Amino acid sequence: MAITKTSFMRGMQCEKMLWLDRHKPSLKVIPPEVQERLDQGNEFGDKAMGMFGPYEEMTVYLKGTTIPDKKAMVEKTKEHLLKGTPVIAEASFMDYNNFCAIDILRKNNDIYDMYEVKNAPEVHEQFIKDAAFQFYIAKRSGLKIGKIYIVIHGEDEKNPFVPIEVTEKAKLLYGWVNENIWRLNKLQKEKEELAVETGEQCNNPYECWYYGYCHNDQ
Ligand code: SF4
Repeated sequence: MAITKTSFMRGMQCEKMLWLDRHKPSLKVIPPEVQERLDQGNEFGDKAMGMFGPYEEMTVYLKGTTIPDKKAMVEKTKEHLLKGTPVIAEASFMDYNNFCAIDILRKNNDIYDMYEVKNAPEVHEQFIKDAAFQFYIAKRSGLKIGKIYIVIHGEDEKNPFVPIEVTEKAKLLYGWVNENIWRLNKLQKEKEELAVETGEQCNNPYECWYYGYCHNDQ
């Protein structure tokens, strides 16, 4: 298994978190309020797919499961890029097995602009890093991306989707993603559990779902 946006961001918060996700995921404890927030985020993301009108969604599942079939998603995306589909949701790309699914790609003349959707009232640094990861994989897969936006939640339901442009900041992080993606890929495959001391990273930027495991361990 290679690196996805989620595993990259989790690994950048803590290498042990990444390792545990791969080798001991049953130790994870997701608080109900966090799960609720995640579910609300998914719902917001689903609605946002239609923010520019009709769209084509690239999600494909492995037969008889709800597990995404990443290779099929990448192939479907290639077909739609070739056809010049105006709005592509969950546009998927793979680079040496590292994978991303971009929330929305929207055609802008002969290139695509990219939209990363977040159910939040403002843009956080983490969101720009998420977008930078998506940009990195898509660029290495040969896609030319124009502008990059984070879509946040508007003030009310009449105006739920507000795109904020972060192109320059996200593109500048290309080198940072490149410096870390290969290192994290190697680390997650280590046989021995990684020894990482608990610290600030256990709550920052997100509370770690292995908090109980690591803190009771000491
Ligand atoms: S609790 Fe802290 S040390 Fe343990 S995996 Fe999470 S972030 Fe890393």
